[in-house]
Amino acid sequence: MKKLCVIGAGTMGAGIAAQAANAGVPVLLLDIVRDPADRNAVAAGAIERLKKAEPAAFMSKAAAKLVEAGNIEDDLGRVAECDWVIEAIVEKIELKHALYEKLEAVRKPGTAISSNTSTIPLDRLIEGRSEAFARDFLITHFFNPPRYMRLLEIVAGPKSDPELVARVSDFADRAMGKSVVRAKDTPGFLANRVGTYWLQAAINAAFDLGVSVEDADAIGGKPMGVPKTGIFGLVDLVGIDLMPYLKASLTSTLPADDPYQAIAHDHPLILKMIADGYTGRKGKGGFYRIN
Ligand code: NAD
Repeated sequence: MKKLCVIGAGTMGAGIAAQAANAGVPVLLLDIVRDPADRNAVAAGAIERLKKAEPAAFMSKAAAKLVEAGNIEDDLGRVAECDWVIEAIVEKIELKHALYEKLEAVRKPGTAISSNTSTIPLDRLIEGRSEAFARDFLITHFFNPPRYMRLLEIVAGPKSDPELVARVSDFADRAMGKSVVRAKDTPGFLANRVGTYWLQAAINAAFDLGVSVEDADAIGGKPMGVPKTGIFGLVDLVGIDLMPYLKASLTSTLPADDPYQAIAHDHPLILKMIADGYTGRKGKGGFYRIN
């Protein structure tokens, strides 16, 4: 892997780009154009935040020089320079499909393409794509924050090229220090199949019982193995705006009699927080304030 491209410079994409750069690999980090006067502003802003992140910068100065900011409209063709393209855009299948269609037209065959999706099955992601694209495609599910979470779930489809999957897995293991777990193409894979149930159940229980966020986290934090953040702190870290997408994706892929269907619920308070910009650490704050 001589060069990577990460598409989506949000919570996950920026962190994954930083990890690759810390491993000495150049990365092209692409996001959308929000400001026509500064077309690379979104990705460039993410790189600046990574350099300043506390308590320790997420990237060394030398590593930061390896990450180049670009935008999807002008720079997508540059994926042909890269050996691995990691898609980390929002969890909406129609947006991922639209991106893959464009990607298919410009990528170099043999380039690994992976999605960081949390919940969308691989066979749905590659709907409408060519056999060649399907051969080079896999899911690489990094966990948040990528810098600290060693786990990486890899999902290969029946059409994925085993040699390409092994190359990605080997790089993630050796260069990025990940513990790779091979998961099957089942809804939520392994960790989110359990984790989303548990987050949703805790949010419902806390709201329905009128428990404060701090008390819920005191119970659901250390005793349940989430010592640093507790459950609501974890939701702030994941991004509160991601919760409805995870729910929609899982309810549409799990069988109707799955126990998760009965608890899946977009609480009005969560929807209000999202509408008001309180999306967690990446927004104005969440259940906990940010400085
Ligand atoms: P995010 O909302 O923080 O970032 C998404 C980024 O993608 C934004 O900067 C947005 O501008 C950009 N984007 C949207 N459409 C785009 C397009 N067409 N082209 C280029 N950029 C585009 O999202 P996130 O939390 O980083 O999640 C990204 C993916 O990773 C999702 O599939 C999510 O399910 C998955 N994931 C998230 C977490 C988490 O804890 N947040 C953990 C594991 C996996």
